[in-house]
Amino acid sequence: MVDQLGAGKRVGILTSGGDAQGMNAAVRAVARTALGMGAETYAIYEGYQGMVDGGPGIRRLGWDDVGNVLHRGGTLIGTFRSRDFRERDGRRRAAANLVAVGIDRLVVIGGDGSLTGLDVFRAEWPDLLDELVASGELDAATAAEHPALMIAGLVGSIDNDLVGTDMTIGADSALHRIVAAIDDLASTAASHQRSFVVEVMGRHCGYLALMAAVAGGCDYVLLPERPPEPGWEERMCAELARGRAAGRRDSIVLVAEGAVDPDGNRITSERVRQIIEGQLGEDTRVTILGHVQRGGAPSAFDRWCSTWLGYEAARAVLAADPGSPGQVFGFRGNRVAAIDLVEAVARTREVAGLISAGDYPAAMARRGDSFVTMAGLFTELSEPSRLAAEPGGRRIGVIHAGGLAPGMNTAARAAVRLGISRGYTMLGIHDGFPGLRDGRVTELTWGDVEAWTADGGANLGLRRSVPTVEELYAISRSLERHELDALLVIGGWNAYRSAHLLHAERDRYPAFRIPIMCVPASIDNNLPGTELAIGADTALNVIAEAIDRIKQSAAATRRCFVVETMGRWCGYLALMGGLAGGAERIYLHEEGVSLDRLNDDVQWLHRSFAAGRTLFLAVRNERANENYTTDVIASILEEEGRGLYDVRRAVIGHQQQGGTPSPFDRLLATRLVGHGLDRIAEQLDAGSDGSYLVGLTESRVTDVPLAAMMDLMDAEFRRPKQQWWLRLREVTRAVAEQPEAVLS
Ligand code: ADP
Repeated sequence: MVDQLGAGKRVGILTSGGDAQGMNAAVRAVARTALGMGAETYAIYEGYQGMVDGGPGIRRLGWDDVGNVLHRGGTLIGTFRSRDFRERDGRRRAAANLVAVGIDRLVVIGGDGSLTGLDVFRAEWPDLLDELVASGELDAATAAEHPALMIAGLVGSIDNDLVGTDMTIGADSALHRIVAAIDDLASTAASHQRSFVVEVMGRHCGYLALMAAVAGGCDYVLLPERPPEPGWEERMCAELARGRAAGRRDSIVLVAEGAVDPDGNRITSERVRQIIEGQLGEDTRVTILGHVQRGGAPSAFDRWCSTWLGYEAARAVLAADPGSPGQVFGFRGNRVAAIDLVEAVARTREVAGLISAGDYPAAMARRGDSFVTMAGLFTELSEPSRLAAEPGGRRIGVIHAGGLAPGMNTAARAAVRLGISRGYTMLGIHDGFPGLRDGRVTELTWGDVEAWTADGGANLGLRRSVPTVEELYAISRSLERHELDALLVIGGWNAYRSAHLLHAERDRYPAFRIPIMCVPASIDNNLPGTELAIGADTALNVIAEAIDRIKQSAAATRRCFVVETMGRWCGYLALMGGLAGGAERIYLHEEGVSLDRLNDDVQWLHRSFAAGRTLFLAVRNERANENYTTDVIASILEEEGRGLYDVRRAVIGHQQQGGTPSPFDRLLATRLVGHGLDRIAEQLDAGSDGSYLVGLTESRVTDVPLAAMMDLMDAEFRRPKQQWWLRLREVTRAVAEQPEAVLS
């Protein structure tokens, strides 16, 4: 039974302030969720100005009005910086226009300015209506029907600056744009042995600069919240020169728009250029990325996350009572969290004050743990203690195993550079566990991993096979011969099984009594001890882009697509890819596929095409069901379509495992490897062989003992027993399965 909490209620939706990729996904989700709950929905065009002006600025929205928008950047309902709305008179007109349509619930997607305005409006609403009644512009009975304005906010800001949330709408896409530009610049810079200074957005927030510096493998970063120590000019140049001497062919320095020096003065990109040219005598170019950071198609994350946020905001605003305080829905700990709007905005606005007052530690603390951790890791990577292995240092082996996942190389590079800086000798084990068995182990230097950040694939070579009992002796001899003190295993399920086997056999083979850390890398995202594995985000982006193209290809026909994603028995890619791509139906092994369900879907499809639908998209996980294969489902749809539409199947295939790792996967790789090396250091210091599965749970780095691995897994279907993302099933239904009764 569909929740009809929205019956008789009218919701307005608007986007305001700077635009951000993912706003359209949020608008779509708010509108469809509210429609599905029985409410009427209205788009308010050009931000608050549409409300102030009324008339065509406020228009009824149906289900199809927000169709085919997920892939579009910007905001289709327009945005505006409304001067009128800053004035009380403008807000009075806005209230009159809303009440005239019967709207007293608002969802606003904007930055902290827009959300401040929203709360001012909420607080004034009763007085504004009293004034309208007193002046005869509104009758008392209508005013009495709308005693309060109920609100929900979503943060659209590429800067990722809302204190108390991990990600704002648009930040991930902006990071995609920046990191793609850095990758491109790096190849030309390396060809000419040149330095580049790249300026990115972020007046008070260094998120984009810092994360792009880590993900792009840059040499130096300058941020608003963390000015460099005095003498930074010489240190920066010395580090650039040191990197060159160790094998780098290019240098890239990232500067946030609002970066400051130790005296609180702005550091411009031009100033950095002059410093580098002056001290190193090197041809240095400035690139200011500017508005391209806001442009282009939203990333997969900005599509699924904004959809989830919009779903929750719509439900909350329809459930709100007249006395409810305003809430912001933000993404925190890999979940949607409701936070107090006034407090969140106030804490965000304080950061600018903390920066101008020079209280940088407090400003950094507002950014949260992962920002602080990343800043520490970047310092270690850009100003390493050592660029060559310490003679006599502990020896750590790095191995890639299991299936291929984009980001494996980024993880190995981070391991080698952080490991060397920490005094270890880093050894690359080639071709997975068979390579270890055969002794294919070589030392990796700082320069060897130079270009690995942006490289898909696995440069160390990789095998899926799990060692047999007969191979264990040879593996133990190899570990002894190469004097390995610890192992960092980067890979998927078979890598985990191999590590587990070695750990379990340590009583028999003393060489296995070493710390073994497993770092999750699998596009399937089916590994224990982590909510996200390296590579899954890249694969989702491939799926979202593939679906965009598939949909476009059908422009002139009435067509159904059945798209198959990878994932084995784990439905992560199918569900999240379907959510990001706007699939109407998603078939997962976790839920099962039955003839009854297919029959319902066919009936729905028939009615829907008869009513004017032109495109239908189903996403099926490759092992959703042994018998209802992609071909079978496509054939059933075709047969039952009886000429109303045609059907095509599209297996996305191995491109999901390839390609340049996404910024998120590079950051995840760096963070998890950093944590794995911390754990190794602890174990080595304690003379212990504690071994762990490293992971990310609720956005924090975590670890669980390797010995507990099987308890966490559904061994038959090779996926964790708990899968957090299955709760998004209800979100996909709300935004993609149009109920019969809802206005098209
Ligand atoms: P952002 O939302 O991206 O931070 P702005 O700060 O420019 O962008 O705010 C966008 C719009 O929100 C403003 O043009 C104005 O219409 C409204 N707004 C911002 N602050 C207030 C305020 N204090 N009172 C009323 N409206 C405001």
